[in-house]
Amino acid sequence: MNNPSAPSPEAFREEAGAFLRSIAAEGAREADQRESDRIAAVEELGEGHELQVKQARELQARLFDAGFAWPSGPPDCGGRGLSREHDQVLDDLLAELGFPSREVLFVGLHIVAPAIDRHGSPSLRSRTLPALMRADIIGCQLFSEPSAGSDLAGVATRAVRDGADWILTGQKVWTSMGHLADVGEALVRTDPDAPKHEGLSMFLVDMRAPGVTVRPIRQMTGGAAFNEVFLDGVRVPDANRIGAVGEGWRVAATSLGSERDSMSGDDGPVSPYVLQRLAALVTRLDAVADPVHRQEIARTVASIVAMRAAAELPDGSWSHGLGPVSGSVLKLLMTRAVDRIAELAGSVLGERAFTDDGGWDTYAWSEFVLGAPALHIAGGTDEIQLNIIAQRGLGLPRPPKPAGRETTRK
Ligand SMILES: Cc1cc2nc3c(=O)[nH]c(=O)nc-3n(C[C@H](O)[C@H](O)[C@H](O)COP(=O)(O)OP(=O)(O)OC[C@H]3O[C@@H](n4cnc5c(N)ncnc54)[C@H](O)[C@@H]3O)c2cc1C
Repeated sequence: MNNPSAPSPEAFREEAGAFLRSIAAEGAREADQRESDRIAAVEELGEGHELQVKQARELQARLFDAGFAWPSGPPDCGGRGLSREHDQVLDDLLAELGFPSREVLFVGLHIVAPAIDRHGSPSLRSRTLPALMRADIIGCQLFSEPSAGSDLAGVATRAVRDGADWILTGQKVWTSMGHLADVGEALVRTDPDAPKHEGLSMFLVDMRAPGVTVRPIRQMTGGAAFNEVFLDGVRVPDANRIGAVGEGWRVAATSLGSERDSMSGDDGPVSPYVLQRLAALVTRLDAVADPVHRQEIARTVASIVAMRAAAELPDGSWSHGLGPVSGSVLKLLMTRAVDRIAELAGSVLGERAFTDDGGWDTYAWSEFVLGAPALHIAGGTDEIQLNIIAQRGLGLPRPPKPAGRETTRK
C-alpha cells in the first residue's frame, strides 16, 4: 500500500463498521437463520447449502457495491489499494456483527483472483476480477489430477493450440465448488517436450463450455463439495490465458501461496465465527469444571495464539532463513489449531457431537470434527510443507524420492 491518503486501519474500521451496521439488521436476521446451523472446518456443502451460497453471494455483492469487498485489491478492479491489515479489519467486523460465512467463495477470491490480478492481461483482469470479487461468478481451482497432487508439476491435462484458441483434454479431481463454479483456473501442459515445470501454462476455463463434465464426489460428512472434472476437447480462447505460455508454474505458485496465507487468516477455518461458537459451547456446557477439559482448553488457546502471533509477524521477522516459507509455517500452525478445536469440541460434546438430540449447538460441530483432517491435505499436505521448510527455509538436502514418486508442489 503506497497511498498516503489511505485510511489507517482504525479509521477504516470506523468507516466499514458504519456501513456494516447500517445493514446489520439484515445481517442479524441471517445470523439467526444459521444459529442452530453447521460449523465447518472445510466447506462441505451439506443439506441446505443453496441458502448458504445465496447469502454469501448477496453479501459479497453488497460489499463490492459499497467498496468493501476487497480492501487490499487494485482500485481499477473494485479494490481499494489498502493493506492486508485492512482485509483483516473487514473480516473481523463481519464476524463480530454476525454476517454469514463467505467460505463458498474462498477459491475464487483467494486462489483464482490473485493469480489473474498478478499475471493476467489487462483485458482478462478487467473482464473477470470485478465479476469474481462481486461474486457474480464463482471460481474453482483445476490443479490436482489423479496422478498429480503433491507432484503437481506432473499434470498431464494437455492444451493444444488451434488458431486463436487452445483445446484442453484431460481429467482434474478434488475440485472444490466445481459444480457451482462459472470459471476454473486450469494448470495444463502446453509443451510435453519441455522440462516438466517449464511445459505448463495456466488458463481460465468457462465451466459451462461444451466438453466440460463435472461429477460431484460424496464425502464422509454427507456433503459433496468436491468434484471430478473431465475436460474433453474444451475450447478456451488464448485471451483467457493467465500469464505467458510456459509460465504456468509461476502462476500456480501465486495461487498456492495466497491459498495458504488465506487459510490461516480470519476467512479461513479458525475464523472469529468458529471461535465465538467454540467459546459459547465451552461456556454453556461448563467445560472448565472438568480438569481434563481445562487442559484441552489451554492447549487449544495456546495453538490459536501461536498461529495468530506468527501471522502478525512483520515480513522481516521471517528473515532468519524462513522468508519464502512463512505460508507453509502458517499453514501447519493453522492445521494444528483446527485439530485442537475439533478435539476440544468433540471431547466436550462426546456422543452428542454425532447424534442430533436437538440440544443447542451440539450436532452443529459434527462437520467440523469430521472435516478437520482434510486440512492436513488441502493446499499441499503437511509432509510437503515440512519438506518446503526443510529445503527452502533451512537449506537441508532434498529427501530421497519415495519409489515411483517425485514431489513438485510449491
Ligand atoms: C479439502 C480439500 C480441498 C481440495 N480442493 C482442491 C481444489 O479445489 N482443487 C485442486 O486442484 N485440488 C484440491 N485438493 C487436492 C489437494 O491439493 C491434494 O489432495 C493434495 O495436494 C495432495 O495430493 P494427492 O491427494 O494426490 O496426494 P499424494 O500426492 O498422492 O500424497 C499421498 C501421501 O503421500 C505423501 N507424500 C507425497 N509426496 C511426498 C514426499 N515427497 N515426501 C513426503 N511425503 C510425500 C503426502 O504427504 C500424502 O500423505 C483438495 C484437497 C482437500 C483435502
